[in-house]
Amino acid sequence: MTQQVPLYIDGEFVQSKTDKWIDVTNPATQEVIAKAPCATQEEMEAAVASAKKAFLTWKETPVSERARVMMRYQALLKEHHDEIAEILASETGKTFDDAKGDVWRGIEVVEHAANIPSLVMGETVENVARGIDTYSYTQPLGVCAGITPFNFPAMIPLWMFPLAIACGNTFILKPSEQDPLTPTRLVELFEQAGAPKGVLQVIHGAKDQVDFILDEPAVRAISFVGSVPVGQYIYRRGTENMKRVQAFAGAKNHCVIMPDANKSQVISNLVGASVGAAGQRCMAISVAVFVGAAKEWIPEIAAELKKVRPGAWNDKDAAYGPLISPQAKQRVENFIKQGQAEGASLLVDGRDCQVEGFPNGNWVGPTMFSDVTTDMEIYKNEIFGPVLCATSTETLEEAIALVNANPYGNGTSIFTASGAAGRKYQHEVEVGQVGINIPIPVPLPFFSFTGWKGSFFGDLHAYGKQAVRFYSETKTITARWFESDIADASGPNMT
Ligand code: NAD
Repeated sequence: MTQQVPLYIDGEFVQSKTDKWIDVTNPATQEVIAKAPCATQEEMEAAVASAKKAFLTWKETPVSERARVMMRYQALLKEHHDEIAEILASETGKTFDDAKGDVWRGIEVVEHAANIPSLVMGETVENVARGIDTYSYTQPLGVCAGITPFNFPAMIPLWMFPLAIACGNTFILKPSEQDPLTPTRLVELFEQAGAPKGVLQVIHGAKDQVDFILDEPAVRAISFVGSVPVGQYIYRRGTENMKRVQAFAGAKNHCVIMPDANKSQVISNLVGASVGAAGQRCMAISVAVFVGAAKEWIPEIAAELKKVRPGAWNDKDAAYGPLISPQAKQRVENFIKQGQAEGASLLVDGRDCQVEGFPNGNWVGPTMFSDVTTDMEIYKNEIFGPVLCATSTETLEEAIALVNANPYGNGTSIFTASGAAGRKYQHEVEVGQVGINIPIPVPLPFFSFTGWKGSFFGDLHAYGKQAVRFYSETKTITARWFESDIADASGPNMT
């Protein structure tokens, strides 16, 4: 019988009583490997009631005890690293190395959450007026929630619940319905790490379950990662309901290549950053901007891309896996067709891609267009597939203007041997995460993940110090004590 994914409510893994189930498929074969429930109203209300109750004791739990749960959790995740990666590969199709990377980037956030005592320290100023001191504390909000996408089913849930819970909150997670098995395993290990009952709840489902979270008065803060239209919807409806919302959305990331760049580095980095993970990364490079003579390298890059091939998760020579669903594959192929119709030059065509032994996989081969202009749909949209669009400018100034005119601002990079060009780019570009000779500049968790413009709706970003502020309130106390009240050996001062 196909495995039914359990809900996690009030510290128990329970089978949903719903009559609505969503198939979880292996994207390399279309085999249905599990069914995810659409949690019922009653089940979601039970999750909220348990999270509210657990908050009352969890918020009083000493910060060092909360840190110890995270220390045990990161150790367990490391111990089970490869096993989680195998589950992840089975439902996403990612290659084993890529799946391991997904898990590892999440573990790094848990390591960061284990430092919670120093992260929640407040501020103090003595003598703000004579005999008066002001100091601040960080206190948890209450029940927080997270809604996550399919493309990093380990890393992105781990961006959210460990830090929110370490801050003293309780948390309701609604993972992607396309790959719920990985988060389920993460939660089993969290329980094993000693997380008290009710601190974390998991409800599965899709839009209706998200709407419940958006409208539930007890939920104080929502973290979302996913596509632009859903991110905008969640930000609008969540803030309309007076909640704190951080919504990380889609992207169109540009890599600027200067003619003085190290050519072999450019070629290998562009290939990996554009088609790695089948282009299903919010930080994938999807546009290459060649400045001046650098455009002469385009044919060599196309030739390198042609050598790359997708394959099954355990195929050591595969550069990446299938797309997540037949619909995602169709969408990418439609864009390739549209790019041709719009007049871009199709240098590498990934359609009709076959992988031996996997005739039903959602395969799309590496694809590259040149002569792409900013009015084309293939430039304007996040394709979210293994498709690289190349364009060119005469100067760095023009390249910066092109990147800044794009509505997204998640990540960007520049390849150059010139410190001055790198400095100018990092200073002037209107994008939140910049790599200099680094194609995908995702910051480690002691910094924050800082997308800008149309790639992020909200104020405080994921992980790092910003997440601690997102998941907490600051309480500021101003106190005066009267010396005349001091009781000493001579007895209480009665004046
Ligand atoms: P998605 O927006 O389709 O789904 C994300 C979550 O929202 C899922 O849990 C889903 O169940 C829920 N959802 C879907 N439709 C909904 C609706 N109409 N109303 C309410 N909830 C809904 O995204 P996806 O396809 O799973 O993920 C890919 C997208 O995520 C890409 O656009 C990618 O760029 C983006 N992403 C962004 C970041 C970032 O940090 N900026 C990171 C990873 C992925």
